Amino acid sequence: MAAPAPANAFATNQARARVLLDKLKADGIGHHIAGKRVASAKTFETSSPIDKSILAVVAEGGVAEIDQAAEAAHKAFKSWRNLNPDKRRAILHKVADVIEAHADDIALMECVDTGQAHRFMAKAAIRGAENFRFYADKCAEARDGLNLPAPDHWNVTTRVPIGPVGVITPWNTPFMLSTWKIAPALAAGCTVVHKPAEWSPVTADLLPRLLAEAGVPDGVLNTVHGFGETAGRLLTEHPLIKAIGFVGESSTGSAIMAQGSKTLKRVHFELGGKNPVIVFDDADLDRALDAVVFMIYSLNGERCTSSSRLLVQEGIAAEFTARLAERVKKLKVGHPLDPATEIGPLIHERHFQKVCSYFDIARTDGAVIAAGGKPYDGPGGGFYVEPTLVTGGNPTMRVAQEEVFGPYLTVIPFKDEAEAVAISNNVDYGLTGYVWTANMERALRVADDLEAGMIWLNSENVRHLPTPFGGMKASGIGRDGGDYSFDFYMETKNICLAKGSHKVPKLGA
Ligand code: NAD
Repeated sequence: MAAPAPANAFATNQARARVLLDKLKADGIGHHIAGKRVASAKTFETSSPIDKSILAVVAEGGVAEIDQAAEAAHKAFKSWRNLNPDKRRAILHKVADVIEAHADDIALMECVDTGQAHRFMAKAAIRGAENFRFYADKCAEARDGLNLPAPDHWNVTTRVPIGPVGVITPWNTPFMLSTWKIAPALAAGCTVVHKPAEWSPVTADLLPRLLAEAGVPDGVLNTVHGFGETAGRLLTEHPLIKAIGFVGESSTGSAIMAQGSKTLKRVHFELGGKNPVIVFDDADLDRALDAVVFMIYSLNGERCTSSSRLLVQEGIAAEFTARLAERVKKLKVGHPLDPATEIGPLIHERHFQKVCSYFDIARTDGAVIAAGGKPYDGPGGGFYVEPTLVTGGNPTMRVAQEEVFGPYLTVIPFKDEAEAVAISNNVDYGLTGYVWTANMERALRVADDLEAGMIWLNSENVRHLPTPFGGMKASGIGRDGGDYSFDFYMETKNICLAKGSHKVPKLGA
């Protein structure tokens, strides 16, 4: 169990954050291209969702910057690709060391930039280091292939990095998520142009500087800040960029697929979700309750894998929901830097308005708001909402179909296993599913029937890095994690060697 935070931890966090923010404000945020900080004529401001204060002026990339970054990644590719994997491994381990050494600062900055609670961001920064460490150890095997003997030939496959790739990331847990995409790309031998989300540029600015400190050569990671419709689009259309690893909304994934079609971009999409957690009446209800609360109200509910639909079996629905409502009402909404805080402000005014719109949508749909359901007057006056629980829902309501992406849970009762599966699958998305039951045969049947890329049985989302991560249907294309990431960042090449025994056809002889 983690040691309790010292009594003055909130004040200490605030004091340290103030120092970091003063420096950030003075420095501003520039692009990072070919190892150099690059400014832009156009800029935009990034502000904190805690109190709406301006944190920094950010360079806004366009044609010139995306071009320079793609050229830099192209130029750096050959030597990074050919670097001895042991050397690449050592550099990526050093990246992990440097991230760990700066983890406290990363966590503080992430909290102020995104509104996420410190208790989660401290772990997310460390997870960023783990992502690099895990893939550092996979550098040596990245090029491994298969031995496929045929009667007259040996076939040997090998993998080669696809080339410079674009990585486009969203604003939720942005540091961790960026490392999750960038670490395997670098381990594969690809170079990267990263376009971080415009609402969370602060730690995205730190990342290339930490990589440089660790000895990653210039041009291997280039970061261009800016907006999706301009910098993001230009990256997806750039001919030097061979593939796009994208995390974000499903509709943006569709746009990227169209934008990248002219240059035949390979795409990997991690998109939205409306994930069910199914609680059967024979489940360990105490553990299930903890997991249900954690998987929607942690990380402000701004989490693709959140279980935003609770499917609960009819016989236990009333009591389970009443216990749940009690817990939701006790969740601690507060300042992200306060270690006691469980829910901070939402990332941005536009997202706050979107989440708030679902309070009325629930009422219009005929559902009941059993807890929360309005903005919250939190410290700093930022974009806080009350953690919200919606009951009386049925599977066709908008609150049961659409991704809200906030601390907002819709409860839907079900009769039996068949109905639970049918309701679960009756959405556009298919990212994760969570099942709570003491009946293992049933758990396995349901796991098999759920249309989702990742299923947890009697567990919340506990990530094991070698396992595949990704979604079905509108939740994504492709898998990350373990060796799966290399399928995306690398090309498989077959080399066929003749044993000299086969008959070569003679034409014109
Ligand atoms: P978003 O799609 O609005 O933006 C994501 C990124 O795409 C940003 O960097 C943005 O600037 C860029 N972008 C926007 N339009 C673009 C375009 N036309 N071309 C190129 N780039 C463009 O998503 P968001 O609101 O930042 O993030 C929240 C979404 O991300 C949610 O739907 C969430 O479920 C999803 N998400 C999925 C996963 C997963 O693993 N499946 C993980 C985290 C978040």
